[in-house]
Amino acid sequence: MLLEEIENYAKLNHIPIMEKDGIMFLKDYIKKNNIKKILEIGSAIGYSAIQMALVDDDIYITTIERDSIRYEEALRNISKFNLNNRIEIICDDAFNVDIEDKYDLIFIDAAKAQSRRFFEKFQENLEKHGTIITDNINFHGLTNCVDTISSRNLRSLVRKINAYVAFLKNNAEFETIFYDVGDGIAVSKRN
Ligand code: SAH
Ligand code: MG
Repeated sequence: MLLEEIENYAKLNHIPIMEKDGIMFLKDYIKKNNIKKILEIGSAIGYSAIQMALVDDDIYITTIERDSIRYEEALRNISKFNLNNRIEIICDDAFNVDIEDKYDLIFIDAAKAQSRRFFEKFQENLEKHGTIITDNINFHGLTNCVDTISSRNLRSLVRKINAYVAFLKNNAEFETIFYDVGDGIAVSKRN
């Protein structure tokens, strides 16, 4: 199947697409909450965007990817699924992209250390009672044992993820629930 081909390509080329249970959780959330307009930060090769678009045929997605090789591959994959009319992909650094539209769901799945900056920039594009979902909140369990990590860079990254979790917990505008699926998912719903 086509989706499996994309999964295999990702594995071979070390592209961190969403894990199986994570993507199932996301699709389920979209279905149950009748979400129709989605903004994704971090398309990679288009896998999660395609999966989300397949939930229903009136779902529209805008997705941003800064790596031009991944962007090209995403374009090819989106075409294979004939989803060009429902998935718009922008090739740029998300911090350079200014969007006017409002979305029911914003899915943050890009540079883990930058999640807070993405959240703060793109919350302007969220519908009044919309949801921001962030992937990779657990980071392979490393967030539980920061002090035992010997690599300085890795420790710094894990500290940033933990700071993001604290930011979400303390954010009065949003109610966040953390799920231990995939690599850890945060669902932040605006009150
Ligand atoms: N959502 C995808 C996986 C994304 S992997 C899926 O599950 O199928 C994360 C991607 O975010 C990488 O391809 C990386 O190039 C991209 N990325 C990281 N920082 C970014 C930024 N500032 N702007 C745009 N894309 C970014
Ligand atoms: Mg991810």
